[in-house]
Amino acid sequence: MTEPESPHIPAMDPTRGPDAPVVAPPCRPDAARALFLDRDGVINIDHGYVHQEERFDFIDGIFDLTRAACRLGHRVVVVTNQSGIARGYYTESRFHALTDWMRAAFEREGSRIDAVYFSPFHPTKGIGPYRREDPSRKPGAGMILQAARELNLDLGGSLLVGDRLSDIQAAAAAGVGRALLLVHPAERAPEDPPCPVIASPRDAIPWLM
Ligand SMILES: [Mg+2]
Repeated sequence: MTEPESPHIPAMDPTRGPDAPVVAPPCRPDAARALFLDRDGVINIDHGYVHQEERFDFIDGIFDLTRAACRLGHRVVVVTNQSGIARGYYTESRFHALTDWMRAAFEREGSRIDAVYFSPFHPTKGIGPYRREDPSRKPGAGMILQAARELNLDLGGSLLVGDRLSDIQAAAAAGVGRALLLVHPAERAPEDPPCPVIASPRDAIPWLM
């Protein structure tokens, strides 16, 4: 197992301590709407700590969704917890190489990923500097708020698609207008889902309108 590299520390607002209320940045008149996507379980089948191209199986319908988002002028932004980095299963540079490969695939399919944010931390399983509570880790809102600041996004007009309740909680904490829980046909939806449930990324397309 290779040593973890020095962690990527997302730039957080220095005025915001861990207990400060989460406040979405004010959006400028030219702010863009975004389609936020979780990665594992939404873009690719969640085989568990996927970090190799050979194990990266795109989920049916994901390219239809991102093509529609691009056509409608949404930014497409991936927000992904990557505790596999914290746990020492793979490095940040391996994650980046896989991300470059993934983004090229989206471009070949006639769409685009505008930005990818990842949280390499875990509060109890992380090794060395990766072991910490971090506001970037979902259900925290850190990655979404960072994207909103850096890309000038209208969070209220944006949509998030996730496959875990922590994705939906992160969207709510950040003030994302709508969220959808993707539950694959072989799986069971939670008893009392906090948002609409969809069975394919394609089902999210009408929610972009
Ligand atoms: Mg997921």
